[in-house]
Amino acid sequence: MTINIILLGPPGAGKGTQASKLVDERGLVQLSTGDMLRAARTSGTEMGQRVAAVMDRGELVTDEIVIGLIRERLAEGGKGFIFDGFPRTTAQAEALDALLKRHNTAITCMLALEVPDEELIRRLLNRGKESGRADDQDEKVIAKRIVEYNAKTAPLKQYYSQQQKFHGIQGVGTIDEIFQSLTTQIDQYPA
Ligand code: AMP
Repeated sequence: MTINIILLGPPGAGKGTQASKLVDERGLVQLSTGDMLRAARTSGTEMGQRVAAVMDRGELVTDEIVIGLIRERLAEGGKGFIFDGFPRTTAQAEALDALLKRHNTAITCMLALEVPDEELIRRLLNRGKESGRADDQDEKVIAKRIVEYNAKTAPLKQYYSQQQKFHGIQGVGTIDEIFQSLTTQIDQYPA
């Protein structure tokens, strides 16, 4: 059985860090819509230019755009995927289920990194200094992203709970401790 994992969590929860460890240690393919959108901006594509202002405000880009990005990437194939920053709305989750079905596979589980808001803000401001990401440098934009997460993305917990695929993971601790919690959960599923 192919393993397809969704890493859920508010901005700053450590999804990207943990996803890249899962790539290294489990050979999964990381699909990050945030990285894809940033790449589209940098290369100056028409879509990249269209989404730039939305991202800079800390709002979500349209479902249609991100679903299109994932659809293209899934068509290239892979042994198993780790979805990082996608889905972020129920419409995206429904589209993902349908796309995976067409590829004769399905989501194995959703692992949600849980981190208190004050810790998220501290981490994001630090990352802003180090990475230069504009959306990590402005406290108002960070706050907006957390509001968007709570309003539109957190309801996905329920969506995957209904499918018995949801697991909350304590997202505070060392990178290795958190990774250990994630892999313990993943190993409950047949490889
Ligand atoms: P991230 O790197 O995942 O924090 O994403 C950075 C920004 O890209 C977000 O604040 C959104 O503007 C946009 N974005 C990334 N993934 C999605 C998604 N699945 N749905 C809508 N907007 C997204």
